[in-house]
Amino acid sequence: MKIGFVGLGNMGAPMARNLAAAGHTVTGFDLTAPVPEGVTGAASAAEAAAGAEVVITMLPNGAILRSVAAELIPAMAQGAVLLDCSTVDVESARAVAAQAEAAGLGALDAPVSGGTGGAEAGTLTFMVGGSDAAFAKARPLFDIMGQKAVHCGGAGNGQAAKICNNMILGVTMVATCEGFALADKLGLDRQALFDVVSTSSGYSWSMNVYCPAPGIGPESPADRDYAPGFAAELMLKDLRLSQQAAEAVDADTPTGATATALFETFVETEGMGKKDFTAILPRFAAKGRAS
Ligand code: NAD
Repeated sequence: MKIGFVGLGNMGAPMARNLAAAGHTVTGFDLTAPVPEGVTGAASAAEAAAGAEVVITMLPNGAILRSVAAELIPAMAQGAVLLDCSTVDVESARAVAAQAEAAGLGALDAPVSGGTGGAEAGTLTFMVGGSDAAFAKARPLFDIMGQKAVHCGGAGNGQAAKICNNMILGVTMVATCEGFALADKLGLDRQALFDVVSTSSGYSWSMNVYCPAPGIGPESPADRDYAPGFAAELMLKDLRLSQQAAEAVDADTPTGATATALFETFVETEGMGKKDFTAILPRFAAKGRAS
């Protein structure tokens, strides 16, 4: 397949490289990042899109996606698919899809989970919104870049699934860290708490798989001095998107709002954005109720 790829950063570069290595013809463009091995460089986003059957974008946010899409859409061939894999707000995803469809193109929003390790290894999970026809066309590419693609419904539903999942993750991780901090002060050993909760009704991915306490459970960023993993600044980005979406549709998300406020302080006031998001455990452990 002839593929255009715009946004060759930490995630986009290995995704584009994997598509090229699988035998596809990939033409890429980025404002600053180098063109990865196997990919042909273009002078602009429009040039990367010309003649492509699928154009993939992997960009920082919704405002940038909207401006890049405005350049891509007129340059794309009729019937081609615009496949955005960035994590952006639901409204931007739906607006871009509507513009693409009005121009006779297919459109998919397909944010990922799995991080840079999953992008390198081709084991990402895609959460996909858009038409059946566009999903079917992109399916072979999802199979190269990832191990799972879930079709979640119409335009924007991939982004909706991503931010609901990450709001749940942010909230359960905060609750798990609170549990450890409370256990410390009650004189309950962290290993004993893990042994109970990981096999009781408080269990979760946050406790069982990605335990925020060093030396406990399977190996996690806590065992590497909280090197990410999933950086706190990215968790804050996704929590903010969840609150922006909740505001737009009048959904009540009080614990999501609290988790957002906690990560705002952690990242913006305390400068911990580059640490893994589980580094919020030592912060809880060091605090009292009023401090
Ligand atoms: P990144 O900053 O490394 O890459 C983004 C790239 O977009 C940069 O190279 C930048 O130069 C390029 N860019 C910006 N504006 C552009 C424009 N107008 N034209 C062309 N290129 C432009 O970010 P990343 O870590 O690769 O993340 C990309 C997306 O994936 C984000 O939406 C992020 O939230 C999401 N995501 C990241 C991770 C992760 O672990 N890094 C995990 C899941 C999802």
